[in-house]
Amino acid sequence: MKEIRALYPAELKEELVQLGEKPYRAAQVFRWLQQRNAKSFDEMTDLSLALREKLKAQFFLKSAAVEKVLKSAVDGSRKYLFRLHDGELVEGVFMPYHHGNSVCISTQVGCRMGCAFCASTIGGLARNLSAAEMLEEVFLVEEESGERISNIVLMGSGEPLDNYDNVVRFIRLVTDPEGRDLSARSITLSTSGLPEGILRLAEEGLPVTLALSLHASDDERRKKLMPVARRYPLSEVLSACDTYFKKTGRRVSYEYAVVRGENDGSAQAEALAALLHGKQAHVNLIPVNPVKGRNFEKPEAAALLAFQKILVKSGINATIRRSMGADIEGACGQLKRHYIEEGTV
Ligand code: SAH
Repeated sequence: MKEIRALYPAELKEELVQLGEKPYRAAQVFRWLQQRNAKSFDEMTDLSLALREKLKAQFFLKSAAVEKVLKSAVDGSRKYLFRLHDGELVEGVFMPYHHGNSVCISTQVGCRMGCAFCASTIGGLARNLSAAEMLEEVFLVEEESGERISNIVLMGSGEPLDNYDNVVRFIRLVTDPEGRDLSARSITLSTSGLPEGILRLAEEGLPVTLALSLHASDDERRKKLMPVARRYPLSEVLSACDTYFKKTGRRVSYEYAVVRGENDGSAQAEALAALLHGKQAHVNLIPVNPVKGRNFEKPEAAALLAFQKILVKSGINATIRRSMGADIEGACGQLKRHYIEEGTV
């Protein structure tokens, strides 16, 4: 059985025609799934009972649910724990900004990239999320918060390019004019750096923003933080990012989690500036979120500012990521771990 919320309009039309229905029915069903987040076929009250029964027999319409919401009293952000149809849990975050509301969503249950500072990778990869499940994360946040989302970041658990087909399908669906109609430009895909995936994405004709998780300016240091760096040297990853920029015209963001005593020195800031010299780059400095059981500390405020200053002086656009939800387990992957380990949050 196919998951109906993951079908493109053309695929849905083909399926319905096969069932002996008029093609325009597909547009109706698509709107129920993509604009109104229908959770069952019975909600589709403008379809005949007979058609609803046919759909039930033919397709899955699995629903995720909000398991837990934590609301920040400090900045209005909200942290979500979603329960998927098979009981797996993933996290998402709602972040209100002046320029619009953002949601950070997960693309996999767990992750197999193994980054040393990341909580989501501790139990390895459980499974991929389907395009429908990613859509539901966005829709459920809108429903629960009563707020409209204008930006999506694929920075929750998982490596989006390790679940390539479902992620691209999700992007095409959420940007479909007959569906949620978000702009692809307001979607950011963050990757630990899989060059084949980056090059493939560059050919999709989707102007999404690419963010590369860099975290170090040389291969040796990067390998210590990110096992994926053993497979792909920086030169290859950065060259794929350059191609991405050339093909899409989208400036690439470089994420740099700043860890005290590890990668926060001025020598490393200079090295980072040299590495990105001449590129249309934007560097996002993220003070590392300490994760239980991992020995990483946030940098001193002065060290962080000095690091940023060196980049800016070298002509590189660099911002310090404002941390949100400090009072609600805002940091990457922590809500789920607490929930599982302690049964509550
Ligand atoms: N797998 C993708 C996307 C998910 S992680 C990637 O690696 O980019 C999203 C971002 O959060 C990445 O830049 C990741 O390195 C960063 N991150 C993960 N754990 C973190 C932590 N404890 N503190 C700060 N940033 C973290």
